[in-house]
Amino acid sequence: LATHFLDRIEADNSNAFLHVDRALTLAQAAEADARIAAGTATPLTGVPIAHKDLFVTKGWRTTAGSKMLANYASPFDATVVEKFQAAGMVTLGKVNCDEFAMGSGNENSAFGAVQNPWDKHAVPGGSSGGSAAAVAAGLTPAATGTDTGGSIRQPAAFCGISGIKPTYGRVSRFGMIAFASSLDQGGPMARSAEDCALLLSAMAGFDERDSTSLSPEQGGVAEDFSRDLDQPLTGLRIGVPREYFGEGLAKDVEAAVRGALAQYEKLGATLVDISLPNTALSIPAYYMIAPAEASSNLSRYDGVRYGHRATEYKDLQDMYKKSRAQGFGPEVQRRIMVGTYVLCHGYYDAYYLKAQKIRRLIAQDFDAVLNGPNAVCDVIMGPVAPTVAWDLGDKTDDPVANYLADIYTLSTSLAGLPGMSIPCGFGEGEKNSKRPVGLQIIGNYFGEARLLNVAHQFQ
Ligand code: GLN
Repeated sequence: LATHFLDRIEADNSNAFLHVDRALTLAQAAEADARIAAGTATPLTGVPIAHKDLFVTKGWRTTAGSKMLANYASPFDATVVEKFQAAGMVTLGKVNCDEFAMGSGNENSAFGAVQNPWDKHAVPGGSSGGSAAAVAAGLTPAATGTDTGGSIRQPAAFCGISGIKPTYGRVSRFGMIAFASSLDQGGPMARSAEDCALLLSAMAGFDERDSTSLSPEQGGVAEDFSRDLDQPLTGLRIGVPREYFGEGLAKDVEAAVRGALAQYEKLGATLVDISLPNTALSIPAYYMIAPAEASSNLSRYDGVRYGHRATEYKDLQDMYKKSRAQGFGPEVQRRIMVGTYVLCHGYYDAYYLKAQKIRRLIAQDFDAVLNGPNAVCDVIMGPVAPTVAWDLGDKTDDPVANYLADIYTLSTSLAGLPGMSIPCGFGEGEKNSKRPVGLQIIGNYFGEARLLNVAHQFQ
């Protein structure tokens, strides 16, 4: 299996993979074979996986898609990588992503854009674009992704695969390079909900090395997320938020999503009209909170401890400035500036604090429909993104156009809820190509098993 996928990766020219080391992979595959022979295998033993280049790995370089970390060799593995290895999975290598996971098209990677396997003129989505493209092209059966504001769900949608962002705190962030710590959450990307369930079962669980990891008392216990896959959907109440079908939603995407909703009705579910009134505010709130946290997290890249260091400088201050100016790309620099601005003394209350209040309102929108005596639905469904994948190069000069495309995924992240994308049809690409459409399924806190059940029944 490992050889099969390594050969496919070698023949590929989509730029999905950033670092492959045949010998390292084959050594892991040999260990898996030995385990299978010894009868100590798990269901995942011997199954290859690729890791988003945001997860640190011993042996494979970890770049976070940035020139800043172009030659970074981690002395340890991320918890997620460690867990998959403990289950016997075989690492194929590291896949491309937007620089420090900032982006929606994978075009912010310092190592170049990635082609969408459905249409080489289209972006694969971002920031986990390499992960999605690699799974969709059959270069790996599965990949890890991270989702801060949609980066698992949106590339999964653009590449026609499945991906789940778990409840915040389910999956350890230890060894996952930080972007916005109160939002960052790792999750699996694969060809089916069933595969995602198997992977998430191995991936989730309390980790004392991540202070925001959910403890067993908080519900952070190991679970078999495949347990409910085959449950029928009779009686399922699906909330359909009005705000997710308004202005800006492309007709072809709307048609595919409505088609999926009709299919769910046939499976025994009922559709409930709901309102998530603060949806539009998710964009300004997220684009203050995420950059604020990023500006703080990225201060560690100072050219002293690790990462790129300028070769010529006058003094220490100059070394900091030149190293950061050379190491960070334009989108990362823009976010550091926005983040520093909204956190500074005179503006903190007007921007950052206000954004945090909006964040609470957004969480309350979900709470009102999913919890308590007046709950009206069990899951929420809508589009993942307003359009199908756009053309490579189309939005590179317009950061705001990129931000607006995140409208349907940011709220879930701000609320810390689990969300998933599954393929539900095709829309029209700009050059008459067919491009995949994703259906988003949002659940209640700890509702992953239910989400995966609902997703699995569709397939
Ligand atoms: N597109 C969003 C951003 O650029 C989300 C990215 C993510 O989830 N990592 O911040």
